[in-house]
Amino acid sequence: MFRPEIFKGKKALVIGAGRSGAACANLLAAKGFKVLLTEEKKAEAVKGKLKTLSRSVEVETGGHGKAAFGCGFAVKSPGLARSNPLIAALEKKKIPVFSEVETALAFSGAAKLLAVTGTNGKTTTTVLLGEIMKAALSAAGGRALVCGNVGIPAAEAAPKARARDAVVMEVSSYQLEDSSYLKPDAACVLNITPDHLDHHGGLAAYVKAKEKIFKFQDAAGCCVFNYEDARCRRSAKGCLSKTLFFSSKRSGGKLAAWAAGGKLFFRTGGAVVPVKPPALPGAHNLENAMCAGLMALHCGVEPAVIKKVFAAFRGVEHRLEPARRVRGIAFVNDSKATNVESTLVALKALGRGKNIWLILGGLDKGSPYAPLLPFIRRHVKAVLTIGAAAPKIEMELAGACPIITSVTLERACRAILGAAAPGETALFSPACASFDQFLDFEDRGRKFKAFVRTLR
Ligand code: ADP
Repeated sequence: MFRPEIFKGKKALVIGAGRSGAACANLLAAKGFKVLLTEEKKAEAVKGKLKTLSRSVEVETGGHGKAAFGCGFAVKSPGLARSNPLIAALEKKKIPVFSEVETALAFSGAAKLLAVTGTNGKTTTTVLLGEIMKAALSAAGGRALVCGNVGIPAAEAAPKARARDAVVMEVSSYQLEDSSYLKPDAACVLNITPDHLDHHGGLAAYVKAKEKIFKFQDAAGCCVFNYEDARCRRSAKGCLSKTLFFSSKRSGGKLAAWAAGGKLFFRTGGAVVPVKPPALPGAHNLENAMCAGLMALHCGVEPAVIKKVFAAFRGVEHRLEPARRVRGIAFVNDSKATNVESTLVALKALGRGKNIWLILGGLDKGSPYAPLLPFIRRHVKAVLTIGAAAPKIEMELAGACPIITSVTLERACRAILGAAAPGETALFSPACASFDQFLDFEDRGRKFKAFVRTLR
């Protein structure tokens, strides 16, 4: 556990000049620590981040020198592997290494911490939960500070929280792995499927990292789990706080929330309350909504507030986001689908008979595309390929449906516009990383939407 008072007068080492590292260095400097920020990359590569640093932060770039070992404690950027030689050397010298999120939380005055993890759906759930908490707290002059993996460093947001506020945090497995202590009032594990196994060194270590979200909770807290996920159910057995299960496949019984007949049902205070879900496609979004709802109810939020926020919620950019309807064809931006699993989720959510023109491709991530085959046969009129992965995709999906080699996103969109019928869907859910043709998935999604706006 990071307790700032123990390290008073000691120098802080912040490892990694990413956005969260820079925010953490500034935070510690503002709290009176001497800070050394060390970065493997050359200064040129991180100059944008260095500009955001307060003057008192000392900076070391292009590698790590001996000065690191003169520090009293260190804070590690989530991207860095625990096997990194610097981390190993610090641990050998008994210099404690903390995560950015636990360091940030040590300075938060918030009454409540709500923490979201899982393999998929974290950002959607965190943003929705943030909206619920904002609506619930604003009447009493409180705020919900949404931060973490969602794109706002915890070190930037959490220390601003006062007693009336709540911190709503998306926590990745990397951030959890690095944390020695987190104690959320409400937590969740949305789902667990194998991911980032290279970083963690195997599935067992990945699951163990996820379990840290509830490890230090007691009976006053709660943790929400997906009942349909066997790994979640197994993890829940080791949870000491109130375990709450949701399911999108079955009803009642011991479940705290379920979906049936187009409604969500929440068990709260001895009653079962029906709530209309947000207008988002797919069973996965029902799961995200149930999870956010249960966490909010545990924190005392009234069902009426949840109903109001669900009714207004329109989802998060780049996740099955309706871009525009052109000549009756619905163009959908799902640029966040950077792996095959996410594209499968998209096909399940939007497939209605054979109605989808699917744009696939980008930078290949090494997993097979074959799991898409049954859904492509059922729902896809044609696949349009773009980017570096095109030849591999075309080979693996050959015979399942017509394949149109399009090279670029623009050509793919034009081809669909020329061939699709009104009522059909142009789905950009690439199942690949974006770095061959774009800066990142956000850049890719924005370019898709900008181009679609020009279509007539
Ligand atoms: P994360 O932050 O965990 O990456 P997002 O909310 O950004 O999650 O969603 C990313 C993708 O994960 C979505 O485009 C969708 O394909 C898939 N997804 C979202 N929610 C779920 C869920 N509850 N279960 C399975 N897949 C999901």
